[in-house]
Amino acid sequence: MRLDKLLANSGYGSRKEVKQLLKKEQVTVDGKVVKDPSMHVDPERQEIHVFGERLDYKEFIYIMLNKPKGVISATEDLRERTVIDLLSPLLRHYHPFPVGRLDKDTVGLLLLTNDGDLAHQLLSPKKHVPKTYYAKIDGKVTEEDVKAFARGIVLDDGTMTKPGELKIIKYGDTSEIELTIYEGKFHQVKRMFEAVNKKVVFLKRLSMANLVLDPTLKYGEYRELSDEELKALK
Ligand code: URA
Repeated sequence: MRLDKLLANSGYGSRKEVKQLLKKEQVTVDGKVVKDPSMHVDPERQEIHVFGERLDYKEFIYIMLNKPKGVISATEDLRERTVIDLLSPLLRHYHPFPVGRLDKDTVGLLLLTNDGDLAHQLLSPKKHVPKTYYAKIDGKVTEEDVKAFARGIVLDDGTMTKPGELKIIKYGDTSEIELTIYEGKFHQVKRMFEAVNKKVVFLKRLSMANLVLDPTLKYGEYRELSDEELKALK
């Protein structure tokens, strides 16, 4: 990869700004000052330092986002703000995309990555990856609903869901629940409750596979996955 492209991709500014850095002799490759922006480098084999600091280059990026309401799970859109718009320019350089979708009004765990293989594994219908949601429901969720969800629910289009694990956390006119499902049909949680004549009024994803939303992340905040979290996902 060209040195100027690598440095620009790693957040050291535009190609023009990177050229200035090189001119000012702030970049070394394997200990030697390099001024040529067109030099080809291999960041995985060579040691590149900028301002005396080792360039932290990686091919893949894995970001846990606590998705807020009002942004869509897409990489770009002409009208709406997307989850990618929430990221720093440095992270956007890696071209991450959301692994699956949360509705515009759904909040909580969303994994963003540029690792297509991992995304494929997590989204493949054959893998039955569990996803757990917390929801507030307008209506009294009952033990009958728990049993119905455990059998599988027939949705409005006549398709049947796989069994889901429904736990009632708070009984009442507005109920609070946790639901684990093993597939990702369009608006699945909302449609499962519609099928039992109840309305989801708040929906938050808490986990996906082994990845659990970091409770210290506020809505709109994100962080890279730890090595342990990534290992547990793969
Ligand atoms: N189910 C839904 O209905 N909406 C989501 O955003 C996720 C799961």
